[in-house]
Amino acid sequence: MSKNYRKFFCLAGLAFFWALSAAPLVCAGAVSTHGLLRVDGRKLVGEDGRTVSLAGVSFGWSQWEAAPYYNASIVQWLQQDWKAGIVRAALGVKEGGYLTNPAVEKARVCAVIDAAIAADMYVIIDWHDHYANNHTELSAAFFAEMARRYGRQPHVIYEIFNEPINGLTWGRDVKPYAEKVVAAIRAIDPDNLIIVGTPNWSQDVDIAAADPVRGNNIAYALHFYAGTHKAALRAKAVKAMRMGLPLFVTEWGTCEASGAGSVDAASTKAWMDFMREWQLSHCNWGVFAKAETAAIIPPGAAVNGGWAVNELTESGRLAREWVRRWAENPPR
Ligand code: MG
Repeated sequence: MSKNYRKFFCLAGLAFFWALSAAPLVCAGAVSTHGLLRVDGRKLVGEDGRTVSLAGVSFGWSQWEAAPYYNASIVQWLQQDWKAGIVRAALGVKEGGYLTNPAVEKARVCAVIDAAIAADMYVIIDWHDHYANNHTELSAAFFAEMARRYGRQPHVIYEIFNEPINGLTWGRDVKPYAEKVVAAIRAIDPDNLIIVGTPNWSQDVDIAAADPVRGNNIAYALHFYAGTHKAALRAKAVKAMRMGLPLFVTEWGTCEASGAGSVDAASTKAWMDFMREWQLSHCNWGVFAKAETAAIIPPGAAVNGGWAVNELTESGRLAREWVRRWAENPPR
């Protein structure tokens, strides 16, 4: 072999091994990177024991303006263009949702779950109901079915009570509900992460911290809307985390808690700084086409994604920036 040939094969070999070692960094999705998520103290860690902080997007109520967007193209678009590591499928329960149309609503949610698994993303199965404690048996049966179907997939996270309506108490309403639904899931799936809603629209995390649900791999929902909730809610979250409670921001908005009002970019930044400091995971609300500030797309937006940035709403553009930034530079 001539000297030049040897040089060529040597360089080609180096390039081959470089490509092999670099490929997982370029191609691996969130689930290939972290595996099954696990609560470790107040933190969320992957199978390698390192802290995980994900950013992504929640679909809106499955029975309303979000309905046509519950498809694989949107999940793929959120991964490709938003660089989302997680999506949240919000099963609407009352008001024309799962209570009245179980097959239709379940099929919508499963379309998003299946697409997220195929895309190597995490997916939250969210019982989107402010009165879940009135539907305990139905919810337990639904989550048992989901556990049978998806409990072996590390992608799947169960969120069993979106936002308990103000007035429900932890001890009398939310915790007893959670204990029943957690038991139904754990009878089938011993290990996937379960997220429990907290009183007062998933804000009173300090109350849950004082009396957590017994069981393994359980985190608690903290929700905020940047236009309404500020330092006082962050202080409550810090109190809960210092008590050892693992939090997961399964839903947040750029605007007021009603979904209306103006986009509060400064308050959103304060929350993002806070979530970075505490390495929290979060999903923006949300994917639905409505003339409402919180919606990321306006009415009429394409139902297969491919949205140009200027086709997003103001909130959509801001949320996209934060989600992309998280993927490019996740907190460690
Ligand atoms: Mg499992």
